[in-house]
Amino acid sequence: RRVRLAGVGSNIFTEMSALAVRHRAVNLAQGFPDTPGPDSVTEAAVKALYAGQHQYPPVPGLPALRAAVADHQRDRYGIALDPDCEVVITTGASEALAAALLAFAGPDDEILVLEPYYDSYAAGAELAGARLVPVPLTGPEFRLDAAALRAAVTDRTRVLLLNNPHNPTGTVLDERELAELARVAVAHDLVVISDEVYEHLVYEGLHRPIAALPEMFERTVTVGSAGKTFSFTGWKVGWATGPADLVAGVLAVKQYLSFASGTPFQHAVAEALRLPDSHYTDLCGSLKARRDLLVDGLRSLGLRPRAPEGTYFVLADVRPLGAVDGLEFCRELPRRYGVAAVPGQVFYADPEAGRHLVRFVFCKREDVLREALRRLAPLA
Ligand code: PMP
Ligand code: GLN
Repeated sequence: RRVRLAGVGSNIFTEMSALAVRHRAVNLAQGFPDTPGPDSVTEAAVKALYAGQHQYPPVPGLPALRAAVADHQRDRYGIALDPDCEVVITTGASEALAAALLAFAGPDDEILVLEPYYDSYAAGAELAGARLVPVPLTGPEFRLDAAALRAAVTDRTRVLLLNNPHNPTGTVLDERELAELARVAVAHDLVVISDEVYEHLVYEGLHRPIAALPEMFERTVTVGSAGKTFSFTGWKVGWATGPADLVAGVLAVKQYLSFASGTPFQHAVAEALRLPDSHYTDLCGSLKARRDLLVDGLRSLGLRPRAPEGTYFVLADVRPLGAVDGLEFCRELPRRYGVAAVPGQVFYADPEAGRHLVRFVFCKREDVLREALRRLAPLA
């Protein structure tokens, strides 16, 4: 009997969150905030429910939300989008990514992907019958290796799959790295799928969408998520934007995955996208302080963490503690210390490459992070 993704099993976030619950551990494994987004946005969802917004929305998304996504990209990045044909609302970024991979990659195609990479990319590629070809982010700072990028291209390469800001390293690609990626995409006529769900969680420098580079808009599908930007991960509202032909490709698949995405939350996210800039600066300011708290704390325990420029993840080398295998380390951590984390190796095609790495999240309240560090103190 054929069972797709049979080898994948339940994902690592589910496994580590279940261990956290079982051992009453502080969950620094799964990336979700423990403080909800703005009350005004919750109220907009409630209002939509009481206003009777219970039935299917239009398949590409509510017009008000598509317009809000388009205005947001214009105001922040100078990218002009036609909300009628260049924006599609999806069930989280996850659906946008799966639909885009199914739309633009087929059997025997190769997809270049920055490694380490988020787990759903491998599943999406496998569903499409395509093959991921990792392009490593290298060194202690996890930067793009331009020579490795160029060497990874073959005559079967069709898609360049990016994640920027990057989970799990926290790298924010700089102008030179983006230009290098763009050069390869243009030279080989690739479709670029750019997962930018952490676009607003940047603490050093600025986020620049690759679609804003010359000759890139016409080949790029950019993916966003209200879960990350407004701290409502359970609402599962995301979007894909880009030129009409590529967005039509995503939409064609999306309509047979979920058909349409939850109506009341779309109303609320349309309002969220109209929040003043202070929403983003406050969120970043508060996350930056928590980043520093976690990075300094892990460092003083003897781990070797990397201070991320973006996202809410810290990747730490656990070898200074005498640990050799991050997966074993993470399977023991909840029971022995009452803290959960995620092994870095699950983000690599060859687990050996990330065996010494463990990922911790810092989108938790300061007192929760302090409690986690207190529990981890015996590691020192
Ligand atoms: N891409 C990356 C890099 C992520 O970390 C996440 C978080 N789950 C997603 C996509 C999926 O986002 P969503 O929850 O909106 O489906
Ligand atoms: N994106 C989040 C993370 O990387 C949540 C993932 C998930 O639970 N699927 O932790």
